[in-house]
Amino acid sequence: MFIEPRRSKAHRGWIEVVCGSMFSGKTEELIRRLKRAKIANQKVEIFKPAIDVRYDEKKVVSHDQNSIMSTPVANSLEILPLINNMEVVGIDEAQFFDEDLPAVCEAIANRGIRVIIAGLDMDYLGKPFGPMSALMSIAEYVTKVHAICMVCGDIASHSYRHHKGDILVMLGEQDVYEPRCRQCFEEGMVKENPTLFPD
Ligand code: ZN
Repeated sequence: MFIEPRRSKAHRGWIEVVCGSMFSGKTEELIRRLKRAKIANQKVEIFKPAIDVRYDEKKVVSHDQNSIMSTPVANSLEILPLINNMEVVGIDEAQFFDEDLPAVCEAIANRGIRVIIAGLDMDYLGKPFGPMSALMSIAEYVTKVHAICMVCGDIASHSYRHHKGDILVMLGEQDVYEPRCRQCFEEGMVKENPTLFPD
């Protein structure tokens, strides 16, 4: 469990990343941290890419319906003019943002603002997703959360996609994606794409 660090006023800005597969509880963890900041009377603002409109235009919604209000933005540069007087900035579905997001997050943290980022670390091919690996590199604190493999019940790190097609940005629905461990993910990929994985 992540415990908020006690830091002096002079060192208040930093970056946290919460990442993992589909259904690993990333957004729930982001919401938990943001709600605790609100309890501490801190000014909190949450942003998400306008592309992610799964359930609600204005809320960060997690799979268990625990939600919090957020502001959709078309790209990461739109965040900067919107953070005046904020003490904590949350960013959800960060994997869908553009490559400017790491520099934007650094600029925000350098202003003394705590930045909490949640996102998928890997896409459905098991490759680093969008700006996530760069964000993990520049963050002071990185938390990987894990789901449960729906094939074997072990700890899951990968997001396996049943529906085939090469659209990278397919939003999460339970019937399309399932969390899998490394071995079950790999077995599924080899089974469905035998030509890509010759013996
Ligand atoms: Zn497994």
